[in-house]
Amino acid sequence: MAKIDGKRLLGDLYRLREFGTYKTGVHRPTYSPVDIEAREWLAGRMAEAGLDAEIDGVGNVIGRSKASGPKLLMGSHLESQPHAGWLDGALGVIYGLEAARAVSETDDLAGCGVDVAAWADEEGHFKSMLGSRSFIGDLPDAEIAEIRNQYDGTPLTEALASAGLAGRPRIAREPGRHIGFMEAHIEQGDSLEATGLKIGVVTSIVAIWQFRITAEGVQNHAGTTRMAIRKDAGLALVKLAAAIDRRFPEIAAERTVWTVGDIKLEPGAHSIIPGRGEMMFQFRDADPDLLPKLEAELEGLVAAANADGPCKLTLETVFKTMPKKMDEGFQAALDRAAETIVPGGHVRMPSGAGHDAQILAEVMPAAMLFVPSIGGISHHWTENTADEDIVLGAAVLAEAAGDLLRRAKGG
Ligand SMILES: [Zn+2]
Repeated sequence: MAKIDGKRLLGDLYRLREFGTYKTGVHRPTYSPVDIEAREWLAGRMAEAGLDAEIDGVGNVIGRSKASGPKLLMGSHLESQPHAGWLDGALGVIYGLEAARAVSETDDLAGCGVDVAAWADEEGHFKSMLGSRSFIGDLPDAEIAEIRNQYDGTPLTEALASAGLAGRPRIAREPGRHIGFMEAHIEQGDSLEATGLKIGVVTSIVAIWQFRITAEGVQNHAGTTRMAIRKDAGLALVKLAAAIDRRFPEIAAERTVWTVGDIKLEPGAHSIIPGRGEMMFQFRDADPDLLPKLEAELEGLVAAANADGPCKLTLETVFKTMPKKMDEGFQAALDRAAETIVPGGHVRMPSGAGHDAQILAEVMPAAMLFVPSIGGISHHWTENTADEDIVLGAAVLAEAAGDLLRRAKGG
């Protein structure tokens, strides 16, 4: 059994929180000075764990095991959302590091190894999952040249140069080197906490289908224009949102979620009937058969609104991702490890958020483990997980990693 050291694990997580501390969380935007300091610190810790550590040309920190036998790849991301939590990403990276140490300290896993990765910019300050995409060979130089920071417009190439990463090679995966990828993460929802369970074994990462709905009306005076002749683009969008919220529960699955993330009205003034409006709408689910049904329903509701008038609504697809299934054999290994360490305390569940594991799943078996988030809070500085739950999750992950490596080794 690959035994983790809970104190060492928590010590590294606490240390990592000191890079960009914000209240009880962190503010560590991708390629900011404090983010680069955190990456350098991690590379140092990887080296101390006996890994060949390197920060590559997109800021991925990759620590490679010197073991000659079967190897797993484990990790997550280091940067944070603005003024956000200390565990989102960091937990999975340090779990990977602790698993690497535990495996190297386990006699019957001699020759087996864990490579550890901190993928750059999963949080999308520049572009979501930049680092993991680079690693699997899905990030052309031409795309890098186009990417800018979503908050301040800084070109990615400029940010990489300021961070001292310009000109460094990007590390690409070596086909056949890894038996698969494992990523641990905080749940970021309240399902585990609400049921008193400690471990979530992720079945798949949900798809996101994102739409833009525009409404064309007629801009006019809010005091003199009779209700009967108005064409209020704002009202048209809000009515559609309400119609979606009435209809979707009738066809949605248990974990389907839908969100109106943004509404913009033109001209957006208190005493003017909006002549034009734009609404961002998305839904998420893990079932590939349900997604087109939800889309058809949305199309039907837009058509019905257009038939009723008086505004003209247009539905446009912004992007559609497909659900990414996690590897069945890896899920089974996580189930077995959880059952050994916390009998009856685990459950299989989809991930409602996107993660680097969905990118790695394109090229190798991939799996994810969730630990409970206190109050289901994430992307906020109060995000937290009880220390004992953090240690428990790491023990399950290391046990599953040891199990998979032992099987790959043939023992
Ligand atoms: Zn994350």
